[in-house]
Amino acid sequence: RQRIFSAMQPTSDSLHLGNYLGALVNWVSLQDAYDAFYGVVDLHALTVPTDPAVLRERTRRTAAQYLAAGVDPQRSTLMAQSLVPEHTELAWILACHTGFGEASRMTQFKDKVAKGQTANVGLFTYPILMAADILLYDANLVPVGEDQRQHLELTRDLAERVNARFPETFVVPEPYIVKGSAKIQDLQDPTAKMSKSISADLGLIDLMDDPKRIVKKIKSAVTDTEREIRFDPENKPGVSNLLVMHSTLSGTTVADLERAFEGKGYGDLKAEVADVVVAAIEPFQSRMAELLADPAEIDRLLAEGSAKARLVAADVLERFHDRLGLLPRR
Ligand code: ATP
Ligand code: MG
Repeated sequence: RQRIFSAMQPTSDSLHLGNYLGALVNWVSLQDAYDAFYGVVDLHALTVPTDPAVLRERTRRTAAQYLAAGVDPQRSTLMAQSLVPEHTELAWILACHTGFGEASRMTQFKDKVAKGQTANVGLFTYPILMAADILLYDANLVPVGEDQRQHLELTRDLAERVNARFPETFVVPEPYIVKGSAKIQDLQDPTAKMSKSISADLGLIDLMDDPKRIVKKIKSAVTDTEREIRFDPENKPGVSNLLVMHSTLSGTTVADLERAFEGKGYGDLKAEVADVVVAAIEPFQSRMAELLADPAEIDRLLAEGSAKARLVAADVLERFHDRLGLLPRR
């Protein structure tokens, strides 16, 4: 079976609808056909200064949300990045293979800094740690949202560069981006992606939001001054975003939605999108309530999965060490 690796940062108490539709639903459906590794990348989250108790809780909650969505720790390997030290070790070596100009071209760093995030060196080298996350597991496929395309390109470039010098060191991974469902925009600023650490509360649909708040947020989503309900991300990003949410959750094509909403107003569209979103989120929230009642069990699952992940990671790192000329560990 082919291997997949994917992960999310514990940068918020709740994942948002973009994380869910852009990544998590695909994770769940891929776990039978692939040998899947799913991580909570807590070291990445250190790029945003966070209270220790809050970080610990967010790591657990992020793992719990994977489980609530249907990730099965019997079939997939559930791990926490900080419990597998090989991630940071490989990141250093890959940093020594990354051009400064190349790293400087990453648009997500620029976007985050432009939106007020502190430009620490960790945030700058984040894509290199992400490359390490993926290459450590010989992953063939990486299910991610559209926003990660450039980072994945860097991962592929690094793998190919290393392989050119040391043949067959790394598996060169492919992005697995599901078309259409790939990107959910901020409700208040539909030209920007919905983001845990950047979006304002009103711009986010959190999976753990009270359904009443979700309805309120969708009703106050920014649209445009026309009246026509039409998919046109360039000129009508707000309306298009609502259509994408509806379509992905209901399984109705965007073209069918455009037809169904002909002659209707934005208020009608928002009301229906709110219904569809709430219907999807309610069962998720009740599973979360059960999982959060036993945090020790979440910690246990993470420790167990991380130990399993480490067996794979240590072998891949050892292989690279050997080719580089570093001394054997044992
Ligand atoms: P942060 O703002 O802290 O970077 P994030 O919301 O971007 O958080 P990540 O943890 O960085 O979330 O990414 C987790 C996964 O969710 C990735 O696969 C990413 O591609 C996907 N993702 C993130 N935001 C969106 C979005 N708006 N639409 C679709 N997929 C998304
Ligand atoms: Mg992100």
